[in-house]
Amino acid sequence: MLTLSDIPRVVVLGAGYGGLQAALRLEGLSRKTGPLEIILVDTNNYHQLITKLHEVAAGSISPERAIIPLTRLLAGRAINFLQATVEKLHLDEQRVVTSAGEVAYDALVVALGSETEFFGIPGAEESSFTLRSCTDALRIKSQLRKVVATAADEPDEARRRPMLTFVISGGGFTGVELAAELADELPVLARAHGIDPRQVDLLILEAAKDIMPGFPAPLVGLARKILSEKRVTVRADSPVVRVAGSSVEIKGGDALATQTLIWAVGVRCGDLLATSGLQTGVRGRAIVNPYLETVTHLNVYVVGDAALVLDPATGRPVAPSAQLAVGQGHLVGYNIWANSVARPRVAYRPKVLGEVVSLGRRQVLARIRGHMFDGRLAKWMKEFAEMRYLYKIGGVKLLRDYLGLASAGWGGWSGKSSTSET
Ligand SMILES: Cc1cc2nc3c(=O)[nH]c(=O)nc-3n(C[C@H](O)[C@H](O)[C@H](O)COP(=O)(O)OP(=O)(O)OC[C@H]3O[C@@H](n4cnc5c(N)ncnc54)[C@H](O)[C@@H]3O)c2cc1C
Repeated sequence: MLTLSDIPRVVVLGAGYGGLQAALRLEGLSRKTGPLEIILVDTNNYHQLITKLHEVAAGSISPERAIIPLTRLLAGRAINFLQATVEKLHLDEQRVVTSAGEVAYDALVVALGSETEFFGIPGAEESSFTLRSCTDALRIKSQLRKVVATAADEPDEARRRPMLTFVISGGGFTGVELAAELADELPVLARAHGIDPRQVDLLILEAAKDIMPGFPAPLVGLARKILSEKRVTVRADSPVVRVAGSSVEIKGGDALATQTLIWAVGVRCGDLLATSGLQTGVRGRAIVNPYLETVTHLNVYVVGDAALVLDPATGRPVAPSAQLAVGQGHLVGYNIWANSVARPRVAYRPKVLGEVVSLGRRQVLARIRGHMFDGRLAKWMKEFAEMRYLYKIGGVKLLRDYLGLASAGWGGWSGKSSTSET
């Protein structure tokens, strides 16, 4: 068991958007004032750019563009990385059980993200693809190639149809971005196998009255127009109620036959938080106070999708997003450091700059500070946001290396990550 020394130890669980940010901020601050031992724990040895997974799934970018090795990110930083899966939290005893042994802590940051919510819909979990990780994205990519190739050799139209029908359950940002990206790729794949692209059907099934809830109506209208031009069928008011093998049943009795159902709706937290004694609320997210500390255990902070954070302006929970997870990680890094040097902590205020949604390889829609953008300006904003994030976590060097990735991968380091292309 790793034990505590004289130096206060902070353990950060999860090297995603929230956890990485917490660790980096804490390390930056503690450099100036005195040492803190920081241990960052993650199942994977890389940081995932989840916001780029739809591009990996479609094959528009290589997986190296959606993962950054942690050795690369943490080089020269006083952060110890432990590659392990977190199995249990013993909060009263201030220790964490992982697949690589136990780790004791003085302060803990839980940033373990979320998993897909299937809402108890029969067959959904067993029969669908998800898009939560680079591995998931590569599974989808491989499936697209497999079914299109099989369809090319299938003379029976009835058997061929489900192979060329692609269904995305969920018309939120993730579902729409994925659909648009696949709509660019599938015709290319079809042609490569001698299939007329008009035989490919790509559908979004959305339970609500319209896609992209919360996005301004003019931008939703534009998104629908772009999707329609790309031959994506949007069916609103059409929740999936049951999946039986390759049959996807929709409320009202209609059913679609597909070999590729992608579940892009709903997130929830795993059982780890609740079974460890944390007080949890909607979708299993841990309830936190304004400093993002759990209400049951002081010095245990929760950020990102795992936290049920209330917006003080509205009193309502903030939506899970990478943008907010980064802000929360940044704040918690500060608050833990402030505690360690007896300075006042800061209460959380969510800052949402806006939303940027890509609709395939060329089009982007954005709402930034209440203003709506499309076309080149929106595309530029998306690229700027991505570059800004990379700069924030890795400075100019990371940015330069990332931009130079095209052929070489992470300077040959990509082989060290545990994600492999299938
Ligand atoms: C396809 C997709 C597209 C998205 N696009 C956007 C977007 O464009 N903009 C936006 O703002 N948000 C977007 N989101 C939402 C955003 O990705 C999440 O809100 C964000 O990742 C949450 O950050 P986090 O730090 O809480 O969790 P994550 O970033 O998911 O990090 C959790 C980390 O914990 C690790 N982990 C999990 N369980 C364990 C365990 N038991 N042991 C050890 N390690 C573990 C994981 O490996 C991971 O590294 C998207 C989500 C998806 C799925």
